[in-house]
Amino acid sequence: MNRRSMLQRLALTPLTMAADKFACGERRLPNLTVDGLEVFRVKVNRRGNWTIARLQTSRGVSGLGDASQSGKDDQTLVYLKQFSALLRGRSIFDIEWLRRITTPIILQHGAPAAVAASALEQCLWDIQGKAFSVPVYDLFGGRIQERIRVYANINRSTDDRTPEGFARMAERAVSASFDAVKLAPFDEMPRGLTDKAQIEHFTQFGVACAQEVRNTIGPGRDLLIDAHSHFNREDGLELARCLEPLHLLWLEEVTPAKPVDDLVAINKGAPMPTAGGESIYGVTGFYPYIKAEAVDIVMPDVKVCGGMLEMKKIAALAEGAGLIASPHGPASPVGNMTAAHVIATVSNFNILEFSFGEVPWRAELVDPPEQISASALVLSSRPGLGITLNEKTAATYAVS
Ligand SMILES: [Mg+2]
Repeated sequence: MNRRSMLQRLALTPLTMAADKFACGERRLPNLTVDGLEVFRVKVNRRGNWTIARLQTSRGVSGLGDASQSGKDDQTLVYLKQFSALLRGRSIFDIEWLRRITTPIILQHGAPAAVAASALEQCLWDIQGKAFSVPVYDLFGGRIQERIRVYANINRSTDDRTPEGFARMAERAVSASFDAVKLAPFDEMPRGLTDKAQIEHFTQFGVACAQEVRNTIGPGRDLLIDAHSHFNREDGLELARCLEPLHLLWLEEVTPAKPVDDLVAINKGAPMPTAGGESIYGVTGFYPYIKAEAVDIVMPDVKVCGGMLEMKKIAALAEGAGLIASPHGPASPVGNMTAAHVIATVSNFNILEFSFGEVPWRAELVDPPEQISASALVLSSRPGLGITLNEKTAATYAVS
């Protein structure tokens, strides 16, 4: 054998081996393509309903995704139909392809399109996990978070919006094992107020609500306050000072996300950590927000940000900047589970949002029922997301 043929042989050997290995692997890969879409809508409360997408495949394996609470459900349904039609016949692995074709539409049409694309993306991961018989977190790098700590957002379930009303709901959350509670006690404050006396009135009323919840949950549990962007820079800084004695885990979205300079000023001036980002889509949306240091804690929503892989990318951006990733998530049990599978693999995770007390049948919407234990969402090691839709519950509470 001359030198040239020996080199050729050496060069070919690994290729041949690789080709054999690939061919062998290819035979084992499930040849699944996307088929039809089913949509289930259940009635929740005046703050919104839940919309669950279930994507079918050519071999009968299906996956779930959460398309809830964009605030414009009818438009989301249109995009779900449009995007699922584009996916039909494509591989269950075409997640980056889905992202590429939906991003321009999302940038033009906003949240309803983002929610639809994110839901379908979640479905594809659930299907992949089932196809390989692994939990989705294994596809995202493997689980490193033993405990998926959750906080009870009591804002959506509290109709009596007084200090006593919020305190009663907080008490229920503590009884249900939650060791962290969030409320947004400034929701009744009209936006764009200029009357200083009025601003002072709503600020002090909200602070009184927060104080009563702190008294109820005690100093050993965490309190989080969401201002829902009701303040301007100056009044927001004053709010942060008023809330200092309550030792917040974080203060969320004091001013609107744009201009980002207002949030930057609040973040620099506030005595507690600040958080936000729930309505931002994609890494390109989060990059300037993170770069400007708008917040300490980044809150991508798996239903809005582009889905599970996008959430992982956003968490990585935050990690690079030394920030925490704590997903936003008033969601159905499906949305909380998809976020949990991602965040289980993220090193800079702190705590996940859980919408507490909205409907008594919440846990039963999925099978096995959703389980909160010691303020943590229980994640199973079953394939995919580890849950299926309980169609009986979905039918009982279907939007008519
Ligand atoms: Mg919020």
